[in-house]
Amino acid sequence: MENVVIIGTGCAGLTAALYTARANLNPLVFTGTMPGGLLTTTSIVENFPGFPDGIDGYELMANTQKQAERFGARVQFATVEKVDLSKRPFTLIVDGEAVLAQTVIIASGAGHRHLGLNNEHLLEKKGVTYCATCDGALPVFRNKTLVVVGGGDSACEEAMYLTRFASEVLLVHRRDSLRASNIMAERTLANPKIKPVWNTVVTDVLDVTQNKVTGVKVKDLLTGTERTIDCAGVFIAIGHVPNTQLFAGQIDLDESGYVIRGQGAQTNISGVFVAGDCADSVYRQAITAAGMGCAAAIDCERFLAAEAAQA
Ligand code: NAP
Repeated sequence: MENVVIIGTGCAGLTAALYTARANLNPLVFTGTMPGGLLTTTSIVENFPGFPDGIDGYELMANTQKQAERFGARVQFATVEKVDLSKRPFTLIVDGEAVLAQTVIIASGAGHRHLGLNNEHLLEKKGVTYCATCDGALPVFRNKTLVVVGGGDSACEEAMYLTRFASEVLLVHRRDSLRASNIMAERTLANPKIKPVWNTVVTDVLDVTQNKVTGVKVKDLLTGTERTIDCAGVFIAIGHVPNTQLFAGQIDLDESGYVIRGQGAQTNISGVFVAGDCADSVYRQAITAAGMGCAAAIDCERFLAAEAAQA
């Protein structure tokens, strides 16, 4: 029987692991399919306090895991396939095996939002990608025109990163101004290799018959005009959706699928806590996720201590 099982190893999960490990709870942590979470797909993180020159996202998460493991956290590369949170101990099915847990901290994060186009799906990894840091340096994208879709911080970050490899980066955004923070927006628009394409949406990705991306069809929302932009790659950065399908019907979720938090890090189920992007549609920062991971660990520790005191 486990004291604490933590689902997810992004900023929230690993911080919860660090705190519960230091509280001698010997947490078991499941990575899911993306160890280290979304931050591992970021190049330089400039806004995590304590790193005046920034830090590589992968390195930050690798360090946090090491720090949690130093105090006894057990991090397993495994995916939770099913949960039964209807009674305690809770049951998790992990790679086919049942794991029993006194408490659970959900830190399952968020995944990339898709445009929802059929050919986007068919050409994924054949020129359609959701991660410039992972794929941007591939030879197929070198000295080519690349399209980035979106207008937030992620889209700006992707566009700027891709200027290292691309001949030009077209930033296709559905409005005429960026949602990104001022500093990111200013840097992006000042980059001579980045050309914004305002008020425009991608309506199709070409060309499935060639089994690779050769361009995108776009529509100008002001004029209704459609045209094709030739490009070798499409980098989609239009936000995220919470990874909470596993808990649907068992934990209270809001209409967008985010876990609803009660007091502190509590969910509607006693003994189940939540932290990070799966419960946060507002701040969605590495540091807020880490803070929520800390809060979930402290709530979890107090919950177990209160139970032990009653026993
Ligand atoms: P975001 O801020 O939610 O921005 C998503 C962008 O995609 C918006 O511009 C949105 O358009 C557009 N969009 C959404 N759905 C679309 C659709 N179906 N078709 C076309 N466009 C669509 O997401 P994000 O950029 O991933 O950022 C998420 C959070 O992480 C934010 O809090 C951000 O500050 C943070 N972040 C920070 C950094 C950094 O500080 N270095 C880097 C990355 C992310 P509208 O503008 O019209 O809504």
